[in-house]
Amino acid sequence: MKANIKDLNLTDLKIALEDLGEKPYRAEQIFKWIFVENVTSFDDMTNISKELREKLKEKFDFHNFNILQKQISKDGTKKYLFDTLDGNAIESVLMEYKYGKTICVSSQIGCKMGCKFCASTGIKFARNLTPGEIVEQLLNIQRDENIKISNLVFMGIGEPLDNFDNVMKAIEILNNQKGINMGARHISISTSGLVPKIYELADKNIQCTLSISLHSADNKKRSEMMPVNNTYNIQELMKACKYYIEKTNRRITFEYALVDGVNDSYEDAMHLAKLLKGMLCHVNLIPINKIKDGIYEKSSTDKILAFRDALNSKGIVATVRRELGSDISSACGQLVRQTKEE
Ligand code: SAH
Repeated sequence: MKANIKDLNLTDLKIALEDLGEKPYRAEQIFKWIFVENVTSFDDMTNISKELREKLKEKFDFHNFNILQKQISKDGTKKYLFDTLDGNAIESVLMEYKYGKTICVSSQIGCKMGCKFCASTGIKFARNLTPGEIVEQLLNIQRDENIKISNLVFMGIGEPLDNFDNVMKAIEILNNQKGINMGARHISISTSGLVPKIYELADKNIQCTLSISLHSADNKKRSEMMPVNNTYNIQELMKACKYYIEKTNRRITFEYALVDGVNDSYEDAMHLAKLLKGMLCHVNLIPINKIKDGIYEKSSTDKILAFRDALNSKGIVATVRRELGSDISSACGQLVRQTKEE
């Protein structure tokens, strides 16, 4: 297979053009065609000579995903199942918020983390997505819907910090002002808690938002839900989070999916409040999405609100995440699993 042109950042593209004996300014023109004009072939690049287009075609390809399925929720959320051209599939979700359109992207094909409540756990890990494949999810939906997406979250299939270099390069491509021009503050990385990579991310100081999938303040309960806690426990995780805040001065978001009778009691809330006391953070409470054959049930609305109020009473800022797309298998991994099981 030829190299994916979307895997190249502007510097790579300049080098590639120099190698072809071309002037470097051509790189900016081509970069703009790919990431701003969102063209799907070299022949669409009308200010590029036919000769250069042919040379590019010999080395590169566009690797445009095919849309295998598109589901539209009553609330406007749209879920895409993409064919990654190698016999695999990934999902991306488009959500509408007051402040703009947000895409939730996948970072890997399958996931190694094994969280018990997550639909992606049922998908065998195949490989990392390349930077170009991460960005293609956004470009593909922008083409399909004829829109501009303003925010991006790494909350689809996969563990973004387990695909660190490619995710960093995708962010660099997204950030480039000559291309998509999406500021780092419009990008969130969600992690199950790969501690060494949190330090590495902090040292890069790229100003994106870091979300931590916490789900419990108790090691025993967290290890039960998330095997990663056996490798990096809550105390180590908190130390890394404090380092992240110190280095970047950015507020961390803690994701907490409420599971009936497991992590949703008043004591659980108090335990969490104690853990997060004094930290620059925000808690995002998520009514858990029940997955097929899953053992966890969603907490009642009353319990969720009581949990939120208990945290707020201790000075911890907590909000309940609006449920979007609940009628279209919105939890990550659900769509891939459905198609495989059909
Ligand atoms: N691997 C990363 C990103 C993917 S999961 C991570 O763990 O953060 C994105 C978010 O969805 C995480 O906060 C995760 O805990 C949450 N999530 C996964 N399955 C869920 C489910 N069934 N219900 C509610 N939230 C879920």
